[in-house]
Amino acid sequence: MSEKRDFYDVLGVSKSATAAEIKKAYRKLALKYHPDKNEGDPAAEEKFKEAAEAYEVLSSEEKKARYDQFGHAGMGGAAGGGHGGMNMDDIFSQFGDIFGGAFGGGGGSFGGARGGSRRVRGSNLRVKMKLTLQEVTEGVNKKIKVNKLVNADGVTFKDCTTCNGSGRVTRVAQTFLGAMQTQSACNVCQGAGKKIDKKPTDADQNGLVRKEEVIEVDIPAGVMEGMQLSVTGRGNAGPFDGVAGDLIVVIEELPHESLRRDGENLHYEAYVNFVDAVLGSSIEVATVNGKAKIKIEPGTQSGKTLRLKGKGIPALQAYGTGDLFVHINVWTPKKVSKEEKAILEKLRESDNFDPKPDHHDKGFFQKMKDMFH
Ligand SMILES: [Zn+2]
Repeated sequence: MSEKRDFYDVLGVSKSATAAEIKKAYRKLALKYHPDKNEGDPAAEEKFKEAAEAYEVLSSEEKKARYDQFGHAGMGGAAGGGHGGMNMDDIFSQFGDIFGGAFGGGGGSFGGARGGSRRVRGSNLRVKMKLTLQEVTEGVNKKIKVNKLVNADGVTFKDCTTCNGSGRVTRVAQTFLGAMQTQSACNVCQGAGKKIDKKPTDADQNGLVRKEEVIEVDIPAGVMEGMQLSVTGRGNAGPFDGVAGDLIVVIEELPHESLRRDGENLHYEAYVNFVDAVLGSSIEVATVNGKAKIKIEPGTQSGKTLRLKGKGIPALQAYGTGDLFVHINVWTPKKVSKEEKAILEKLRESDNFDPKPDHHDKGFFQKMKDMFH
């Protein structure tokens, strides 16, 4: 292998050249040694690659700094000899940047052509998953049955004849720089470079069949209605032996019969007997995984909110767990018996039953604030 030339010499610029000067110098060389203009001339192809490699380094601030300090030795193993591992696709893909939009497809088509044939990606599979509040709170491992496209047994592939297996088609376009070749993905094989050789009769034109499959999905605690979790590579198989798409799991929350969710917090409306509110008691409230007993202090006002710390829902992407807020409602009987009425009439006369709210009793607006918190 011949001694590697200095990158500045290759491009014919000085070490103090600006980025614009480097780009301009490379443009000139790229046009001069472009394979379309020098067909069957290996020396020109060498020069073309050499210039591309020099430009690749000198156009990157970081690589240029490394090269300035360490020379070729600083450019890693591949650049020690040969042409830094750059192939024609890499070089052409640079052109979107160098020549701007002059090439029809611009950066896009080059980007698509980069790296030769690509494996075509299968489509995503979407499934809805209904979760109870308990499952949302604790996280759950679910097995879902999906009907998805998979590679058929016994399917074989051969090179696509339209693009000769390269996945790309080249066409010559007239630009203001002269005739230049552009490349785009082959539309017969969608860029895969392959087509079906043999396939079982039940397989479709891409060599795929539908199959039922059970997929296990780990749902983390704290998910919410409408969230989408994606399981990489568990969607439909890609055509022509491609890569599988993703399985997208869309979360649906089943309503709980007595708990209302608000972010990470839960709310419960408790109805308390008037006598219990006056004399104190203990009541049962619903929690995510069952019931809990809570104490009602003597003299509890209707509208009081009790907070059960950590009895809410874990935060999905943070530490901590929400709380369960129990809202106390004192239940007023709609009808009373004669005896009850007699007792209550007596109580009505008691001074002690006159409302005397003080600053400890929350006002209406404070209660509203609590409701929405
Ligand atoms: Zn093709």
